[in-house]
Amino acid sequence: MRLLIKDIAYIDAQSDAVTERGYMIVDGPVIEAIGPGDSGARGPFDETIDGTGRLLLPGFINTHGHAAMSLLRGYADDTPLERWLNDLIWPAEAQLSAQDIGVGAQLAMLEMIETGTTTFTDMYMHMDQVAAAVIEGGMRAVLGRGLVGLAPNAPQMLAEAEAFVREFEGAGAGRIRTNLAPHAPYTCPPEYLKQILALAERLGVPLQIHIAETALEVAESRAQYGLTPTELLHREGLFAFPVVGAHCVHVSDHDIELLAEGNVHVAHNPGSNLKLGSGVAPLVKFLERGVVVGLGTDGAASNNKLDLYEEMRLCALLHKGVLQSATAVTASQAFWLATGGGAQTLFLDQGLGLLQAGAPADFQFVDITGPRYYPRHSLLSHIVYSSHAGDVTDVFVAGRPLLRKRQFVTLDKEKIVAQAQTIAEKFPGTRLLRDQ
Ligand SMILES: [Zn+2]
Repeated sequence: MRLLIKDIAYIDAQSDAVTERGYMIVDGPVIEAIGPGDSGARGPFDETIDGTGRLLLPGFINTHGHAAMSLLRGYADDTPLERWLNDLIWPAEAQLSAQDIGVGAQLAMLEMIETGTTTFTDMYMHMDQVAAAVIEGGMRAVLGRGLVGLAPNAPQMLAEAEAFVREFEGAGAGRIRTNLAPHAPYTCPPEYLKQILALAERLGVPLQIHIAETALEVAESRAQYGLTPTELLHREGLFAFPVVGAHCVHVSDHDIELLAEGNVHVAHNPGSNLKLGSGVAPLVKFLERGVVVGLGTDGAASNNKLDLYEEMRLCALLHKGVLQSATAVTASQAFWLATGGGAQTLFLDQGLGLLQAGAPADFQFVDITGPRYYPRHSLLSHIVYSSHAGDVTDVFVAGRPLLRKRQFVTLDKEKIVAQAQTIAEKFPGTRLLRDQ
């Protein structure tokens, strides 16, 4: 299958350059060529798409989340994190069956696809169901079975994590990558972390973990270990492995040094951190120190969207406000965090997140005919500051369409939302409004 997209504007995340009229050739799962004008577009082609009025962007990369928590969207809002998790979210999650989690992952994928995301991350349970949803839905994903050392079934979780990696690493024609996912230092004591690291060594996969999400977590870690969560993980040898640390909100300058020296990658989740009242991560310090950072939404229970357009804009505005500096997090930096920076954060290479020859053909079209895209001073600024995810019209992953003209190709939206509504009725205290 050789596809030509012609007469389309595009933004190259690496150079920020906007091309007002160009073409891209997709050959099977990869980008064969991209360039200005049309002189390089030599056929034959199996299909030609006229990109007039559209902007071509790399698909966005969501570096942190819990897909099936979309089932808990709006269930426990406006509650502090510790109570949110212990009293509301965990009891509701206990009601979820393996099949429910597959549906939750599909619901999340619908939302991510229609908002231009092509790769997502998941740390949860029943991950075989999530992997099946990814294989069917066609997205790219980095998946890990969540590990909670304090749970009664902690040893079983570890066995499931290993089985999951062995079965699904590289599944879906390479679209699925796996990792080990200890939940957090406060739920995974050092002894359990040691077992996880031994397994990571054997399997050769990266790790993902929540780090220093709240001030309370840091205070408790200091009281228990005399160390911050970051210092504790460093002492336990975690940073000798490839690690994605989610949040890293409450980190000292010493912690940032440890993260940078250990080459820990950070998943920055501004929306979730704000909604749970956790705080604001020192993104600018991370970037100044050369830490690799990507953007994440976290789960839909704490955001409540899985929309990286919103996260990009929020990220750019939030740090300007906090630092009282209009130059903090530029449009081009925010765009990078959602694209190439996200791919680097997840240890995904081979050009993912970029529009270039040889890169995976993961991309989106945005309808830029609306008033919010005029006048055309800077399309890059418009994408970060004035765009709307509802303007996404088409999404492709590995050269395969998942959304065409705003219609889902691989997933049955009506069926999935109806199933999600039925599942949510099981949660304690739920009073759901049925569809009219
Ligand atoms: Zn999380």
